[in-house]
Amino acid sequence: MINSPTVADLERAIRNVPDFPQPGIQFKDITPVLADARLFAGSVDLLIDGFKPGDVDAVVGIDARGFIFAAAAALRLQTGFVPVRKKGKLPYQTHEENYALEYGSNTIAMHTDALKPGNRVLLVDDLLATGGTAGAAIALIEKLGATILEISFLIELKFLNGRERLKGHPVRSLITY
Ligand code: AMP
Repeated sequence: MINSPTVADLERAIRNVPDFPQPGIQFKDITPVLADARLFAGSVDLLIDGFKPGDVDAVVGIDARGFIFAAAAALRLQTGFVPVRKKGKLPYQTHEENYALEYGSNTIAMHTDALKPGNRVLLVDDLLATGGTAGAAIALIEKLGATILEISFLIELKFLNGRERLKGHPVRSLITY
């Protein structure tokens, strides 16, 4: 792309919203990146840099902001998109995976026929915090016998050590805090 954005351009566009959705959380708002055609396209290109059409059998995205980047990445790589959704949202048969949150727990799901054994998969989400969500998504992907090539995030909150929970898989993050 002509005049592709740099990671610094993306970082400048990300808006920090203090105390959302609850006191103490510094919410990283990626909507200004999405609203700018150059930044949106550039962020997707950086998330999949090094991969080309034919390398990947599916891009898996995590509900909900992960869908936006993963779907765009799938189009770029000329492959399919697979959603990992919150429990109860997918209409067909699902596998589910539960993971702990700071308070309570959460369950995510994937259709049982979404991937085939041996499929080469990229997993994409907007942000890596504790790694609980991505870790559960890894379990769902591997339950279907697929292979994870890489896990890509726009943002990583390093101080939460989320990478520890994704051990054994290559992890890419464009912007770290
Ligand atoms: P975790 O499972 O702790 O790694 O949390 C990751 C998920 O929560 C991602 O899908 C993010 O969209 C969301 N998330 C967690 N913390 C933040 C934050 N500070 N700003 C924006 N999104 C967040």
